[in-house]
Amino acid sequence: MVMNALERALTTINLQLPDRVPVDLHSFALAARHSGRPFGEFFHSADLMAEAQIGLWRRFGHDVILLENGTTATAEALGCKVVYPDDAPAKVTEPALNRLSDVGKLRMCNPEKDATLPVLLRTTRLVKNQIGREVFVMGRADQGPFSLAAMLRGINNFLMDLAYGREKENIHQLLDFATEAVIRLALAQLEAGAHATSIGDSLAGPSLISREMYLEYAYPYEKRVVETVKKAGGLIALHICGDTTLIVDKMVETGAQIVEIDERTDLATAKRHAQGRCCLLGQVSPTALSHESAEMITHLAQKTIETAAGGGGLILGPGCAMASDTPDENVHALVQAAKTYGVYHS
Ligand SMILES: [Zn+2]
Repeated sequence: MVMNALERALTTINLQLPDRVPVDLHSFALAARHSGRPFGEFFHSADLMAEAQIGLWRRFGHDVILLENGTTATAEALGCKVVYPDDAPAKVTEPALNRLSDVGKLRMCNPEKDATLPVLLRTTRLVKNQIGREVFVMGRADQGPFSLAAMLRGINNFLMDLAYGREKENIHQLLDFATEAVIRLALAQLEAGAHATSIGDSLAGPSLISREMYLEYAYPYEKRVVETVKKAGGLIALHICGDTTLIVDKMVETGAQIVEIDERTDLATAKRHAQGRCCLLGQVSPTALSHESAEMITHLAQKTIETAAGGGGLILGPGCAMASDTPDENVHALVQAAKTYGVYHS
């Protein structure tokens, strides 16, 4: 039976066999470039973001649309200073918290009101209303608790705090606060109609912190987000950047229905932990997608499918966000690889 994109994605996430492997694009920057507008203007306009993401979907025919506006939306809503360059994603320039002991003074965000969070939610509503019966819409709840806390405190300061074991109580209070903010946005995304939400805990991986630190400062908070979303009847994906081979067992244990796998992670190990428990998403290199040939993308996608599609439970996609200059022919090659090599014969 041939499925539409929505059925294909849902069947895969439910760990049943779809007609073929579905494909996701991690495409907020690509969408900004395709719009032809300055990035800063683009990320402040739900109409532009929705139109561009729907345009990409009509052009490439992927199965999962990931909606986000970069990595700074919640940080800005909680008081960080953010700049919006014309041709690159937004960046935090000033943290919200100069002293850890001021953690009690932070003001919780309202996703329907603060900074660009309402733009994000409106984008989800627009895309869901227009094409949400055909395609799976994932409304990202921005950064996960660890990464959001790091942005609020300043990434270097935060890593130093952890390394020196300073003011542990305040650190955990900051993580609690960040977790609450993430949960509010995640639930608001589901309320806005997203089929799933997702968090990018970009900084919580072994490239920056040890497994022990992950277990103390990131895992319990990610798990709390996942459990709250699941209690509300929702689906959620967990993304961590870099080589997560050493913690992928725990990423699966958070209970997230989708675990996103960076290109550097050992995919066979991830598959072993995920088999029968959650769906994997990944892991074609975004660098290859922007710089290599279409033949190379076909090869990388085929390798991902061979390693992780057995028995179902794989969404083919980039291992992290795609660069804005990713050429069309490489995106077509990624989508086509799922159609050529990802067919299940049940
Ligand atoms: Zn990443």
